[in-house]
Parts: sequence; C-alpha cells; structure tokens
Amino acid sequence: MSKIRQPHDRRQFLGLAGAAPLALLAGRRAAAQDILDPNDPQAQSLGYVEDAADVDTDRFGSYEPGQTCANCTHFQGGADDARASCPIFGNRLVTAEGWCSAWAAG
Ligand code: SF4
Repeated sequence: MSKIRQPHDRRQFLGLAGAAPLALLAGRRAAAQDILDPNDPQAQSLGYVEDAADVDTDRFGSYEPGQTCANCTHFQGGADDARASCPIFGNRLVTAEGWCSAWAAG
C-alpha cells in the first residue's frame, strides 16, 4: 500500500517544490510593482519625490523643511520603515524621506 502511495507523494512533493520558487518570484514582482514611481502621472501632479530635498519649491510653495512622508498623517508605516503604503496613491509604497503636496501633519 505504501509503495503505491510513494510515487504519488513524491510527485506531489516535486510539484510543490517546483511551485514554491515561482510563488516567491511572483511575490517579488508584485512588491516591485507596488513601489510608487515618481514619474507616475499622479505622482507628478502631486509633486511626489522620493527625497524631500528634491521638492520643486517654485512649484510647491506649501512645502516646509522637515516635512516628509514619515511625519505625514497618510504614511502607513512606523518610525523605522524606509517605505510604507500611502492611500493617496492607492496604497503604493512611498519612501519615508519622500514628500508630496498632499502632505498633512501626522
Ligand atoms: S500623502 Fe503624505 S505619505 Fe503620501 S506621498 Fe504625500 S507626503 Fe508622502
């Protein structure tokens, strides 16, 4: 009985073993897609930059030094997170050092 099951179990194991790396790759691809691209049209219209030092202050006069995603009310991460999701951009990931014109005191 167990000899009949072994090939089946082995096939199952090999199937799972083959699927696991694919699942990991898909997860990595999804994570990469979730990062907000500063060149995205919505990001451009709100002046999103990955480093607040790069804010176009001529275009976005509301910016004040010290404002970053990390201290914005919309930033969904903790103090130690380099990136976290932002609902303003469909929960794509923004950088803690970033900024956009939707910044609001957190
Ligand atoms: S809304 Fe806040 S957290 Fe989101 S990108 Fe703009 S400054 Fe960063």
